[in-house]
Amino acid sequence: MTITVRFAPSPTGHIHIGNARTALFNWLFAQKHGGRFILRFDDTDVARSKQEYADRIQVDLHWLGIRPDVTVHQSARFDTYAAAVERLKAAGLLYPCWETPEELERRRGLRLARKLPPVYGREALKLSDEQKAGFEAEGRKPHWRFLLPNHAGDPFAPQRTEVHWDDVVRGPQTVDLASMSDPVLVREDGTYLYTLPSVVDDIELGVTHVIRGDDHVTNTGAQIALFRALAAEPPAFGHHNLLTTVSGEGLSKRTGALSIRSLAERGIEPMAVASLAVLIGTSESVSAVHTMDELAARFEPLATSKSAAKFDPAELDTLNRSIVHAMPFSDARDRLVDMGIEGDKAEPFWLAVRGNLDRLDEARPWWRIVTEGPEPVAERSMEDTAFLDAAFDNLPPEPWDGMTWKVWTDRLKQLTGRKGKALFMPLRLALTGREAGPELADLLPLLGRAGTLARRP
Ligand code: GLU
Repeated sequence: MTITVRFAPSPTGHIHIGNARTALFNWLFAQKHGGRFILRFDDTDVARSKQEYADRIQVDLHWLGIRPDVTVHQSARFDTYAAAVERLKAAGLLYPCWETPEELERRRGLRLARKLPPVYGREALKLSDEQKAGFEAEGRKPHWRFLLPNHAGDPFAPQRTEVHWDDVVRGPQTVDLASMSDPVLVREDGTYLYTLPSVVDDIELGVTHVIRGDDHVTNTGAQIALFRALAAEPPAFGHHNLLTTVSGEGLSKRTGALSIRSLAERGIEPMAVASLAVLIGTSESVSAVHTMDELAARFEPLATSKSAAKFDPAELDTLNRSIVHAMPFSDARDRLVDMGIEGDKAEPFWLAVRGNLDRLDEARPWWRIVTEGPEPVAERSMEDTAFLDAAFDNLPPEPWDGMTWKVWTDRLKQLTGRKGKALFMPLRLALTGREAGPELADLLPLLGRAGTLARRP
């Protein structure tokens, strides 16, 4: 069977680095096993789901390097869920309930006071046909609960019922179905909560591995029961720890600064985001990984910690720098062209400047410096002006290469007795207008002899 995973965001906002962790765990798992990746939009909440968010999620995943094999929308599959609802009703596993939230809360309080687990007591199963007809006559609509298989024939006498699975991230897991309430699958207004559509789709789309955040561990117990109620073998499950900020705060769709979109706009490289999103909270150290293949090779789901993965967004800048510094020209080329950096000089230029950049777009001012001229320099001392006169009078003859800088400055040392900073800083300032930057040995051949002479102050 082909390994099949899915990433199932609700398009109700922008995805953030924590969602990227889930998407990448799935993507890398599929990559490692030659599997398929489904992008499933959980958009059964039609009021809150927006096409613009779905579109942006696709853009963000593409930016991260994730290429779904299939994309599906739950909003186009309501008939399939309705058919599953009918099957469950016919099997007596989905029952109507009329409690209001206040009523449920009151009963919960009573159970707690009696030291009983605060789960739903299945009171709706005791309603007579007349009582139900009475509710209907009042125009009240029921919500529908799934009868968990945690009893031996008498639903009012639930018994400890363990569900086990071997989690591909957390190892062996156990959930007791008697410790939870029968989940509501369908609301009063006929809309679906997430539980049923997710299971139906996982069955129909042949999902073999459900990999998601560990906030879903308890759900999984109920969902495994639901798979079986629908006569399907449950898939394998994996639950990864969630990302939190250093102060332990969870990420939400409102964590704007950490949305994939804003990171991309800030010039953070996709592989910096992917490296952090995947490696944090695992036994691997977080370091810049340059390709998705390399990341897949380092990805070991079972090496993920069970506690929350605290991360510091400042790490993204460090990782980004490492990625830009080592980025081959072939990876940078198209983006450089978009900035107008092209032609014969583009490659040696990139190799000369990349080690000085925090972000790729910082190449832009350097290109201006190389092709147009230095940035303006504040006043120079008389001594430096005299030194520069001598320097420009003694430019080595062409051809110029990586050794030209050494030849030139060796000669200037002899001629002027200057060395160290006193020697190179006036030259750097004259050539670039900046006090720091790429190796001048690399810049000189790019400027050429004429281009260098033109910078004579
Ligand atoms: N839409 C659900 C969520 O974002 C999907 C959970 C799952 O992967 O099953 O939490």
